[in-house]
Amino acid sequence: MVYGVILAAGIGKRMKTKEKKQFLCINDKPILYYSIEKFLTIKKIKKLIIVINESDKNNKVILDLINNYKDLIYDQKLFLIIGGKERYDSVFNSLSFINDYFGIKNNDRILIHDSARPNVDIKDINKLITSLSKYKAITLGYKLSDSIKCIDKSKNVIKKVNNSVDRDTYYLISTPQGFSLKELYNCYLKFNKNRNKYKITDDLQIIEYYSKNKTYVLDSNKLNYKITTQEDLNVLKYIL
Ligand code: C5P
Repeated sequence: MVYGVILAAGIGKRMKTKEKKQFLCINDKPILYYSIEKFLTIKKIKKLIIVINESDKNNKVILDLINNYKDLIYDQKLFLIIGGKERYDSVFNSLSFINDYFGIKNNDRILIHDSARPNVDIKDINKLITSLSKYKAITLGYKLSDSIKCIDKSKNVIKKVNNSVDRDTYYLISTPQGFSLKELYNCYLKFNKNRNKYKITDDLQIIEYYSKNKTYVLDSNKLNYKITTQEDLNVLKYIL
């Protein structure tokens, strides 16, 4: 079975809008819908889990979502669950939900996606699913075309450059990220024992730190960037 998880429990502090970024509309459609609609077109994804923030249970976008998709919810194809404080808490809640509700089987696979990436390409999601027959942990990502400098961390507009790195050996990592579900769940259980050891910003890291398996990147569409600032949103409106 292939599960899809769409993370929408973040608070989007950097966006500085009243409404959370996943609920902002582009062409009259909340950002969250773009990912849901794409995931629902993929036949291999049998169950789709949307992770929302506890404080959004009565948000109009969520109430409308439940109403619009009530048939799929009734058919147990679409689920809404509550996330946690950090992104990795939200991911773990979805893994625990699957484990408690369906039980995790050896062949189960999972795709984890940020709702803040509405421009993901359906072809890339399909390629990711296909590659999961060979790899246990694989992510979408893309090559950099700009130079990369390592800088001194500072809030100033001008930062001191320390050194340059070889850009050909670096990739920008996006989502979805695909996994053997059992492998990801077992690694998350190990991570839960000491959550402060590593700074986790994506799920591939969990495999890197807690598994002997290698992780992989699949070349994908560069426009699958994460909406973080107002500027990102303006560019996306233009693209869409
Ligand atoms: O905060 P960041 O931009 O890294 O969030 C990436 C994705 O993870 C977003 O789609 C956000 O809604 C989600 N998230 C979540 N639960 C959190 C934090 C972030 O589902 N506690």
